[in-house]
Amino acid sequence: MNTLLLAITAIALVVLVALVLRPLQEPEKAEPEEDERISPLLRGINYLLSDEPDLALQEMVQVARLRSEAADVYMALGEMFRSKGEIGRAVRIHQNLLARPDLPRSLHLQAHLALALDFQTGGLLDRALMQYQKALDIRSDHAGALEASLRIREQSSEWLLAEELLSRLERVRNESYSSHRAYLFSEMASQCCREKDRDGAAEYAARALELDSACAPARMVEIELALQAADDKAAEAGVGALWQHSREHFPLVISLLVTYETFYKKRGIDLLRRFCQQGRDAELVLTWLEVVANRFSRQQAMALCSELAFVPGTLRESLRLQALMGEEADPHAEFSRQWRLTAKNYSCEECGVEVVAVRWQCPQCHAWGTLHPKQKEKV
Ligand SMILES: [Zn+2]
Repeated sequence: MNTLLLAITAIALVVLVALVLRPLQEPEKAEPEEDERISPLLRGINYLLSDEPDLALQEMVQVARLRSEAADVYMALGEMFRSKGEIGRAVRIHQNLLARPDLPRSLHLQAHLALALDFQTGGLLDRALMQYQKALDIRSDHAGALEASLRIREQSSEWLLAEELLSRLERVRNESYSSHRAYLFSEMASQCCREKDRDGAAEYAARALELDSACAPARMVEIELALQAADDKAAEAGVGALWQHSREHFPLVISLLVTYETFYKKRGIDLLRRFCQQGRDAELVLTWLEVVANRFSRQQAMALCSELAFVPGTLRESLRLQALMGEEADPHAEFSRQWRLTAKNYSCEECGVEVVAVRWQCPQCHAWGTLHPKQKEKV
């Protein structure tokens, strides 16, 4: 609360100094109402000093009411309350501001954006979207409002609405976001896949791959559709394309291949073996071993490991292998297994956040396609 008091005091003092100095600078324009404002300000400061911020705020609001240009005092107060997590107060301040008939047109946009941000911070996403829309009604090319609405649509898995906003953002900024758009279509494809809408899934996956052939989740939908239809040739082509275009995310497809056991035994094993022979790829081998141990048995994974002659080259690889191959009673193996359950496997190239399971959109910086498998473990 101390910072809050300091901030209110700072705003109060700035306004007070401005009011006291202004008649000196512009004596001919001195207006009687300014005196009216000084007294609530002094009362406000007095309340602040006696540690009564609520009463202080009431006085500040009174100051803001007395002159329309004092709207910026409201804006500053609202901003301050939001940053302190007092969302209800921030909302009330911005709503009061918007309800004022004398609010200058230029401030409408700012007030809608501020109110939207209040709602967004408070998790009221529908109301936030409504305010961003009002801001966009005033300035349809406001990139900030478009971007914030896009984020909310993504957060709510409303992929097509997100895609529409992304198109508008592309036009406003005159930039191409084809990779981002490909991810949105791939999310649509996955959603259709879960809802057993095979045609929809195929169509959106194709649109995603047309935009970005390296869009791994779209490729995986394509492979899953082929496996469901028992179209071995198409599945094999999809697996080959994933290997070619999205090598680092390729291991993610292995559990899918193993689920379709007939395909896996007939073609999958040979395909994976061939990829393993193309050069050392620890992520590929370890994921394959883990999937086999989970789906079949530890013995089969051990047999595969010696067939592939895999030797770990880093601490991370060694821990993964030990978690998999270690005896039940071995405390070192138990430690490795515990580590494996919580180990962060992906890190974001943009913001550095680390997560356990793959995500196509970074949970921290919201960029798409920026999470890569971690190669090393910090000691
Ligand atoms: Zn990030």
